[in-house]
Amino acid sequence: MKLANYVSGQWKEGTGAGEPLFDPVTGEELARISSQGIDVGAALDYARSQGGTALRDQTYGARAELLGKIAEVMTTNREEYFRISLLNLGTTQADGAFDIDGAIYTMKYYAKIGKALGASKILKEGGTVSISKTGEFAGQHFLAPTKGAAIFINAFNFPAWGFCEKSAPSLLSGVPVVVKPASPTAWLAQRIVEDIVKAGILPAGAISIVCGSARDLLDHVCESDIVSFTGSADTAMRIRGHENVLRRSVRVNVEADSINSAILGPDISPGTEVFDLLVKEVVREMTLKAGQKCTAIRRVLVPRQHFKAVGEAICARLSSLKVGNPRNAEVKVGPVVNKAQQSSCLEGLRKLKEECEVLFGGDEKFQPLEADAQKSAFVQPTLLACKNGLEAKYVHDVEVFGPAATLVAYDSLENLIAIARRGLGSLVASVFSNDPGFLKSVILGIGDLHGRILVVDSSVASQYTGHGNVVPSCLHGGPGRAGGGEELAGLRALLLYHRRFVVQGPSNTLAEIAGLSADTSVLYS
Ligand code: NAP
Repeated sequence: MKLANYVSGQWKEGTGAGEPLFDPVTGEELARISSQGIDVGAALDYARSQGGTALRDQTYGARAELLGKIAEVMTTNREEYFRISLLNLGTTQADGAFDIDGAIYTMKYYAKIGKALGASKILKEGGTVSISKTGEFAGQHFLAPTKGAAIFINAFNFPAWGFCEKSAPSLLSGVPVVVKPASPTAWLAQRIVEDIVKAGILPAGAISIVCGSARDLLDHVCESDIVSFTGSADTAMRIRGHENVLRRSVRVNVEADSINSAILGPDISPGTEVFDLLVKEVVREMTLKAGQKCTAIRRVLVPRQHFKAVGEAICARLSSLKVGNPRNAEVKVGPVVNKAQQSSCLEGLRKLKEECEVLFGGDEKFQPLEADAQKSAFVQPTLLACKNGLEAKYVHDVEVFGPAATLVAYDSLENLIAIARRGLGSLVASVFSNDPGFLKSVILGIGDLHGRILVVDSSVASQYTGHGNVVPSCLHGGPGRAGGGEELAGLRALLLYHRRFVVQGPSNTLAEIAGLSADTSVLYS
């Protein structure tokens, strides 16, 4: 089976033998993809001229309704998405739900909050600014949806959610989407697009998908386009530095890899509720989606006096989890996505082992349950320990994109903050403490280098959303190494797809346009 591309309003198979997609448990080939012979330049033109124009003819409110219909179609086909996810990503039911239900929830969320923008087609920001003596000549800032296309170059780990969390705000803004899913797991995104197209929800050109290599895609992007990338820091650098992207000042949003931390406060002793919550959260982050989450906890920073106890508690939980074929309902940890990722994880672990002790796992010859170790792509959940945080290098630098984390000891608040900051910019850190003074110091000490800080004390023990959970109402993204991008955060996400401009002129003309606009204050409510 070769998965077709959907471009210029038509399904087209790429030429050549194509690239194979595999089942990471059995090693069987599932399908092939190819973008060879696809005219991506024409596809972008079509998206801009047909899709963009038709979408912008509608109001924000009408486009919010389209998102609601997309969510309905996805809900109808949910079981099929779980089937594809199991086959192509080796996901357990919980792993699949994280991606697929997360995608549907995000689409529904934007369908709901998008209604607040009502019958308008552009946004106005603030009031008029008088720039003359009489006030008759004034200035007014507006934000208009860009007349280009939104190009999504996505990572392999969230084929459904990655597509939806970007598409929902883009379509709501009136900007057509062209998605290029990561090759190894393109099937699920391709199937979702197929369902949306079949349902006839969107105008022609509003949605396109290119499966396979990006090839010359970036040669055809223009000043009105947005490139939104999720993936590794290395690829991000190539995209940012692409000559056409630079020459035409194309807006680029990057969500890249990140060495996220979980922090245990010195006030939390072993055996207490908050201690157990940290242990549970670390294990969940190591094992859900086999640790293939950009937000997963990679470093666990604990006061030296509790170093041993935390290690023992995490190892105890890890040892009770079955790792293997997710078709067995008892299995809690599936494979990584393919042999290449398995090799990359093992290589990363070898580096970490140079400066860390292995507390659990780390066996390269590990035997998964009900799967052939030769054909499958499993990595044994592995906990490492680093006693000298500031002297370590790889612990803060090497992202093992699999079921692995490192325990790092800290000695004081200053030492802790310095260690956390060695991540050089992360998506998220979580802090487990009941001491308001400690929490405040940590938040102020690391906030500027993190997109999100999750605080867990006894008062939110039964309510908090989770370290790795990206909720659409809150910001996703992080500075520095994490890519410097910003996504979600409710209607703020629309800013990426709009351009701000100011009109200076007669105040009555400004008032007329302003009357057609929704106020940007809605984005922040
Ligand atoms: P990757 O190898 O960087 O690939 C990401 C995407 O870029 C894929 O669609 C890939 O296509 C494409 N690509 C590769 N080279 C390209 C080029 N020269 N021009 C245009 N596109 C190009 O990353 P990955 O292995 O899929 O994903 C894992 C990484 O993503 C991890 O490091 C993880 O931390 C990060 N991640 C970050 C977030 C976040 O939100 N911050 C979320 C998820 C994952 P092909 O597949 O066809 O090569």
